[in-house]
Amino acid sequence: MHWSEVAAQRALERTRSGEEVVIGSGISLSGPVHVGHSREFLTAALIAHAVKKNGGRPRFIAFADDMDPLRKVYPFLTPDYNRWVGCPLYRIPDPYGCHTSYADHFLQELLDGFQALKISPEVIRSSEMYNSGRFSDLVEKTLVAREEVNEILDQVAGGGRGAPRKAKKSWLFQPECPRCFSLQRTRIIAMSGSVLSIYCDVCGEEFEINLQAGGGKLVWRCDWPMRWAYLGVAVEPFGHDHSAAGGSYESGQIFAERIYGIRAPVPVPYGWIHFKSGGAMHSSSGKAISVTQLATAYPPKIIWWMIARRDPAVTIPFDPETTLLEEARLLRDTTERGGSYRESAVIVESVVGIRQSLLAYPFDHLTLVAQLSQFQPDFALEILRRSRAYQEANVSVTQNDMEYIRKWLEFYGEHYRIRMREPGEPVAGARADLRPTLYILQSNLQEIDWEAQLIHNTVHETAKNAGVKAGDLFAELYRHVISQDRGPKIGWLFETLGRSKILQLLA
Ligand SMILES: [Zn+2]
Ligand SMILES: [Zn+2]
Repeated sequence: MHWSEVAAQRALERTRSGEEVVIGSGISLSGPVHVGHSREFLTAALIAHAVKKNGGRPRFIAFADDMDPLRKVYPFLTPDYNRWVGCPLYRIPDPYGCHTSYADHFLQELLDGFQALKISPEVIRSSEMYNSGRFSDLVEKTLVAREEVNEILDQVAGGGRGAPRKAKKSWLFQPECPRCFSLQRTRIIAMSGSVLSIYCDVCGEEFEINLQAGGGKLVWRCDWPMRWAYLGVAVEPFGHDHSAAGGSYESGQIFAERIYGIRAPVPVPYGWIHFKSGGAMHSSSGKAISVTQLATAYPPKIIWWMIARRDPAVTIPFDPETTLLEEARLLRDTTERGGSYRESAVIVESVVGIRQSLLAYPFDHLTLVAQLSQFQPDFALEILRRSRAYQEANVSVTQNDMEYIRKWLEFYGEHYRIRMREPGEPVAGARADLRPTLYILQSNLQEIDWEAQLIHNTVHETAKNAGVKAGDLFAELYRHVISQDRGPKIGWLFETLGRSKILQLLA
């Protein structure tokens, strides 16, 4: 059974029939939404799909944490943002100046990312929930039970299990200073009903805040299970770091039962998406690729497939250039021949549909054909049909396909870019000593059937008979045809371009 189905069935088991099955997911709006984040949302989306398939009513929630305090002055911020460190993101001005706040800017990016991935979760903003008072009763309940909560934290998350925590007892709540908005340099002095007396170190002053009107947020370890309770979350994917022993899922599970009287959601911990060149994707390191950019070059189906076919627990190795080729190849093989990923292919097909041209033609082949056709769909199909393998091909290539390929080549497909040499344009790096061999080759090429394997063999034989290295002759051919030393298979390239064009370029 597919992992999404296992999670969905477990969630359904604990949901009363007819009730919605709430699938949670979330993100901090602290920076750009990168490819690593797409795993959170697509994992949730796949579970939502499985819930529906199993007769349930999914409610797919994306919780946008805009109450998260700014951690530091990130590289994309100007030094004056130092003033905002420790303040909730929804209070901070948009560093790009185009939205009402910092949080709004990255919320828009998140929504664009959802659109690119073709998902439409219900987005809930943390600040709206807290400030409207909807979370207030649960927040008060947490603060009233703070002694018990602290004891649990001591046991679960202390410095080693059971060891007493060094830090003094926490109020579990970060009050927001009504004047400077700091969440991190404030402390609670006293609580009386819903009213907190707080002191702000920045302002050097005491304030009163009313929990019924928000006034701050719970610390992460309580914020998370409190949301489960409020929203009735039945299943939730989250980064595997939260599932470590003593981590926030473990403590959250206990709070869920003892403080809020609910069951923690079915956990679906997932692994990171790692660059093959090293390192996980992080917004702050600048190494990340944004979802919106990737989705211009990677058909969304491929991103879904990359995530759907793997168990959530495993790490996904990612290279923007080769991953698309590998995933597209595997999807094509699976669709043709079945195999262990068959179920995932069926799911992706039914959720997002699979671009037909991706199944009909190998993607690397398509990228070359697209370039040779100068990105004209009809011409591309004509070129495809010149190869024996696709003579009967009837799946058309669309303008949309061409746009993906063009972007992929531009952003990531460095080693797959080719440019035809114009006849008459000087051949850069041409070797005079190979000129006689090239001349013989031209006449040999005139006498064979114009077919990739025969062309390939002819080049080899000509080199051998002339006593030159085959590799040298191949490089010379690439220089003449595509102005570089290497390229796609010569036989295929020549067959595709046609005999007269090749003879013209070699002359
Ligand atoms: Zn903006
Ligand atoms: Zn203040």
